[in-house]
Amino acid sequence: MQSLIFLILFLFPFFPSCAAVKKDKQTYPVAAQLTLPGPTIVIDVGHGGTDRGARAKNPFCEEKRVCLQTARLVKKYLDQLGYHVVMTRTTDVFVPLPRRVEIADQSRASLFVSIHYNSARNPTAQGIEVFYNESKDQKFKTSASKKLAESILTRVIRRTSAVSRGVKKGNYYVIREPTMPAVLVEGGFISNPSERGNLKDFEYIDKLARGIADGVDHYFKAKKNP
Ligand SMILES: [Zn+2]
Repeated sequence: MQSLIFLILFLFPFFPSCAAVKKDKQTYPVAAQLTLPGPTIVIDVGHGGTDRGARAKNPFCEEKRVCLQTARLVKKYLDQLGYHVVMTRTTDVFVPLPRRVEIADQSRASLFVSIHYNSARNPTAQGIEVFYNESKDQKFKTSASKKLAESILTRVIRRTSAVSRGVKKGNYYVIREPTMPAVLVEGGFISNPSERGNLKDFEYIDKLARGIADGVDHYFKAKKNP
């Protein structure tokens, strides 16, 4: 009996530490340990720094700022959907076009989505359009980019109820040079007073950003279950 009491007294100090180790292990849910990072998406944030992009007064609106605001929200929604997002800029800095493509190549991105806003001499020009590049040497990239452009435009229009200007072919550097499927979203006209008003409204930009994230997500889901 005495030896049993001795044994209990001797072992007692070890129990709490054993329990603590066990508890520590249990703090990491199994699902989190097994979750693999989703595909990498590069969000190319148009303009920045000395390159201010399109501008207008009443209300004052600057393309580089709206691009960054939109891109941050797109990143938030893509993060929530499980994607890994890389932005070509996260602050108001100038990033040369070749550097933007280099960032996409280095991060081994699956998709490249460039965000811009439009401007025209005619102040009534309005609506959203999405560009992709057509290349005879890169048939997979061309068809995948077109599908991504259609997927994004459909969902952005559904969310914002803006006028659709359609999916268009374009020869812009940032959609021509990346090796992965690439699109350029022109999210509305800064030169149109009514659309400019929308672009100053956080809720409108939020809808637009959700539409872009939905479009990316739908593109991947359609690829898995054509
Ligand atoms: Zn632009």
